[in-house]
Amino acid sequence: MANIESVLQETRVFPPSAAFQAQANVSGMASHQALTARAAADYEGFWADMARAGISWKKDFSKILDESNAPFYKWFYDGELNVSYNCLDRHLPEKADKTALIFEADDGAVRRVTYQALYNQVCAFANGLKSRGVQKGDRVIIYMPMGVEAVVAMQACARIGAIHSVVFGGFSAKSLHERIRDAGARLVVTADGSIRGGKMLPLKSAVDAAIALGDCECVEAVVVYRRSGDDTAWNAARDIWWHDLVNGMAQTCEPEWVNAEHPLFILYTSGSTGHPKGVQHSSGGYLLGAILSMQWVFDARPDTDVFWCTADVGWITGHSYVVYGPLALGMTEVIFEGVPTYPDAGRFWKMIQDHQVTTFYTAPTAIRSLIKLGSDLPRQYDLSSLRLLGTVGEPINPEAWMWYYEAVGQSRCPIADTWWQTETGSHMIAPLPGAVATKPGSCTLPLPGIMADVVDEHGGSVPLGQGGYLVIKRPFPSLLRSLWGDPERFRKTYFPAELGGKTYLAGDSAHRDADGYYWIMGRIDDVLNVSGHRLGTMEIESALAANPRVAEAAVVGKPHDIKGEAVVAFVVLKGARASGDEAKKIVAELRDWVGKEIGPIAKPDEIRFGDNLPKTRSGKIMRRLLRAIARGEEITQDVSTLENPAILEQLKEAVR
Ligand code: ATP
Ligand code: MG
Repeated sequence: MANIESVLQETRVFPPSAAFQAQANVSGMASHQALTARAAADYEGFWADMARAGISWKKDFSKILDESNAPFYKWFYDGELNVSYNCLDRHLPEKADKTALIFEADDGAVRRVTYQALYNQVCAFANGLKSRGVQKGDRVIIYMPMGVEAVVAMQACARIGAIHSVVFGGFSAKSLHERIRDAGARLVVTADGSIRGGKMLPLKSAVDAAIALGDCECVEAVVVYRRSGDDTAWNAARDIWWHDLVNGMAQTCEPEWVNAEHPLFILYTSGSTGHPKGVQHSSGGYLLGAILSMQWVFDARPDTDVFWCTADVGWITGHSYVVYGPLALGMTEVIFEGVPTYPDAGRFWKMIQDHQVTTFYTAPTAIRSLIKLGSDLPRQYDLSSLRLLGTVGEPINPEAWMWYYEAVGQSRCPIADTWWQTETGSHMIAPLPGAVATKPGSCTLPLPGIMADVVDEHGGSVPLGQGGYLVIKRPFPSLLRSLWGDPERFRKTYFPAELGGKTYLAGDSAHRDADGYYWIMGRIDDVLNVSGHRLGTMEIESALAANPRVAEAAVVGKPHDIKGEAVVAFVVLKGARASGDEAKKIVAELRDWVGKEIGPIAKPDEIRFGDNLPKTRSGKIMRRLLRAIARGEEITQDVSTLENPAILEQLKEAVR
């Protein structure tokens, strides 16, 4: 297999401002390099120091890394801790009255929860779970709307050593059924419904439907939080209201001290690339990753920051940067029930203004859709509280990056483009914003202690400038420990024998520039092969999105007699969808544009227009689905969860 070619050039560089650098937790490149050098010189000692500084251990560890059963690594494996203790109890002596959560509901109602109140609620719910027989190691499925109770349910599981598996509330009964069975869940926590964008969406009925699909005897109880007030079918033998469960429960609950390796949770990956995988995370190593990345990448200042990560708790981002990281640091954070476009596309900006948010973390898909709906809107709000911005989930194209930087961050706030995965638990490649100069579209440099590399199919490093497979060469604490119930799939997927069996294969392609900066080029599975040139999707998409007419673009390959593969681009325009002669004209213009931006090789052979692109529930473009459409194949993927299935018909139409 040949290497992957990089064709896009991006030359803008944004060093940290002197003011930001002066106040940063890691200030200046020399500090960054010192941490990196320390990790290289004494890898285990480095991580052990970090783990002792960041985590409150019940029993200190004497062992650090066990590689004897690679790739089933263990960290801090004779230490004992409780993650909920680290997120709650340890803050109470000084911060009992501090606001932990600022919850803003879909309709704008705001509820503040102090650390003491959160502790009380978590303990009461933990006692409620215990009263239903839930024990250490049991699995609990959480299928809830974004809100305080979702955080409480997850923390309560952590408190008693139960393993939670959160399923995003937008998933269908079928997906839920698959996950309940795979995890062998003893209990399901849900709500009657959720409210998003002014609409009620039932949740409890999906749980009923999932269980009715069969083979769910493992589920002994379903706890239902009343949110929407909708009528709900009731099975008195199995269902119990949340408020009845916690009624009369003690508001203290001794944490269950667990081994550092005890599974904290299972999270099924978002499924952009096939059958969901039950990613299993540890307690100690995972928590360490969440804490360190908060301090390093988000430059956390617990006493003055108001942190807001917009991710739902159904995704890894919501686990690490809503439920665990910010609370482990004793921060104040915003959590939001609704959607960025309701009641209008200024919602995020208004919330930043209202809650004086300092640190804001969202996804490129949200940024692109908000550009489309109102690129001037942020300027109508007072965003002066912001000091740092972050992005995650997909490669961010340089044009969206620039807009985020200028319109939202007012050319004042560094942008942390964070590359990581469900599997890595926390950030892997991202700028430490008081040290690393940023470049639009690059996630910059690996965090200290993260031994990333770009390699060819034999595991050899490729030269700078050349694309290849993104890997991490040494195990790190927050890495997944296995795939639930399928250790062989874990080994084969992430530690392939071709790379020696000990190197973590991320599944993305990347290249490094002359400064050693990482540029994610897309997923390995999506690489195109055009006339013998292997191209990632990211660069062609970014080039298209750099055209002033284009809001968003996705690129896939389709078989071509001569070239091997032809480039097919799906484009969403900023204005209305183009058709007829207008469409032909824009197609010609965009082809020329790509030709000039990155070269004739990447010129789309075909361009199709839609009002939107098909996305996963976490907002990622479903290129596999687009590939089937481009090839005129029958669609076999589950499209029931698409936001707007009607767009598939639009995208089937070629411009003639
Ligand atoms: P599945 O593994 O089931 O296909 P998924 O990969 O979409 O699902 P996640 O773990 O949520 O699920 O996403 C991780 C992937 O998202 C990365 O492997 C990468 O492809 C992409 N990604 C995340 N952050 C970035 C980023 N900052 N830049 C580029 N790509 C990113
Ligand atoms: Mg993945």
